Amino acid sequence: MAEGGFKVTYATISSDNEEMVKRYQEGIEKAKSWLGKDYPFYVNGQERNGGGRAEERSPIDNDIIIGHFAQATIEDARDAVAAAKEAYPQWSQTPWQDRVEILRHAADLISERVFELGALTALEVGKNQLEALGEVEEAADLIRYYCHQMEEHDGFSVPMGQLSEEEKTRSVLRPYGVWAVISPFNFPIALSAGPVGGALAAGNTVVLKPSEQGFGIALKLYEILHEAGVPAGVVHVLTGPGETVGQALHQNPDVAGLTFTGSYEVGMKIYRNITKDWPKPVIVEMGGKNPAIVSAKADLDKATDGVLRSAFGYSGQKCSACSRVLVQRPVYDDFVAQLVAKTKETNVGNPLEAGVYVGPVIDAAAVERFESASAQAGEEGRVIAGGARIQKDELARGNFVEPTVVEVPIDSGVWRDELFVPLVAVHPVDSLEQAWELANDTPYGLTAGFYSEDRAEVDRFLNNVEAGVVYVNRRAGATTGAWPGIQPFGGWKGSGNSGKAGGGLYYVQLYMREQSQTIVED
Ligand code: NAD
Repeated sequence: MAEGGFKVTYATISSDNEEMVKRYQEGIEKAKSWLGKDYPFYVNGQERNGGGRAEERSPIDNDIIIGHFAQATIEDARDAVAAAKEAYPQWSQTPWQDRVEILRHAADLISERVFELGALTALEVGKNQLEALGEVEEAADLIRYYCHQMEEHDGFSVPMGQLSEEEKTRSVLRPYGVWAVISPFNFPIALSAGPVGGALAAGNTVVLKPSEQGFGIALKLYEILHEAGVPAGVVHVLTGPGETVGQALHQNPDVAGLTFTGSYEVGMKIYRNITKDWPKPVIVEMGGKNPAIVSAKADLDKATDGVLRSAFGYSGQKCSACSRVLVQRPVYDDFVAQLVAKTKETNVGNPLEAGVYVGPVIDAAAVERFESASAQAGEEGRVIAGGARIQKDELARGNFVEPTVVEVPIDSGVWRDELFVPLVAVHPVDSLEQAWELANDTPYGLTAGFYSEDRAEVDRFLNNVEAGVVYVNRRAGATTGAWPGIQPFGGWKGSGNSGKAGGGLYYVQLYMREQSQTIVED
């Protein structure tokens, strides 16, 4: 927790604490002092400059340069994997208690610096104050949770049964070797820190390839891991393009396992291609087209608050964003009217300012995707609120669009495809059975929400919904807002392959393999 006792999570709704606002302001000043510089990446603790530099600009204001980041090459990726392989024997044999101590220290450093790291996250990827601070705390808590899991299971070494006096067997979970982590832009610190923390706690060494739109904050994470005592060869960070460096990682035979978080297209490519000669563990966490279902017996104020927060929080760019709402016909018009009224009141603006809920989308491609989806919705159905790019005053320099509510037919691409913009589609249903069927009629299965004051309906929802993370009657978010140790987070179907969730009871075990050790003593 940050000094002063604040702890922002995704369930924190208000940011009117004066002290917090002041500390965040100081964090912004500090983060601004980091902007516009040249940044190297790190292999074996050494600075590298790769082949050229890429400039990253802020989605809030395209005139703000986050940094000029050295571009790692395929050779750098090869070197990083080789160095991680060399460091593996020592790190894997370091007692797990010592690894956990180092990682806990890293988590505490992240929390201590929550304001400056939050501000950098906000500048780099456009999150509002609470989302940015929440993400940084989540990064720290993910690491802490995996440390806690190692401790809770006493390092996963368990005595087994005996068939004779002389034979003693233990089941021991042991790491795999070099683990590659490829992370997305939308949670650039949490979804780097989580898999990296899990892999390191388990005893693997790690090569991290962050998103091209999250290099700055990923380098800060790297620095913190080193400051906390993770040895130079144990973790490496490559700021390079996905198609070359990411690909070089998943094709390297010395990469023993890999965690990817990102789009379905890239994730499936990695999933299909990573294993050529022998099976390898791969964790792919991918997209979502997350539904909320609103029963005729729902509290509509709760339902519209929850849908609004999940549809427009971080501008619809969470994998868990609510992008489809199925509403029972008797309450459909009321639901839509309330949602539209609240949408029109949503505070869109510079996300560095307290009280702003919706900031920009990540880049020009996302603005184009938004504009074309809004146009398509207008042709195939109707745009009920929003639908346009915002180019008022200083917002014209960033990638701002209106929170948007549309009604489209269910065979529309707007209904079916993950768009990753603040656009939610609503649709009436005649029965809850039809709602489950339409909710599940997607290749994805990440999150889902349900609103009903009838407990029997709630149980039917829980029995029928095909998604890894589900919420009922949640005002703080219909489909978003998981927290380590509270709501494990992982997808079913086309949203994820492992069947085990991040921040959950069975996650750190994914980074280890079982060895059955029988010793005969006669
Ligand atoms: P993306 O797939 O474009 O990129 C993710 C990462 O993959 C980046 O680091 C990128 O450089 C790298 N990459 C790109 N091509 C590659 C290749 N050929 N080989 C190896 N790596 C490659 O995703 P994004 O736009 O950064 O993130 C948004 C997507 O991530 C959305 O689909 C969202 O739903 C998903 N996501 C899922 C979860 C989850 O937990 N399920 C969480 C966050 C985001």
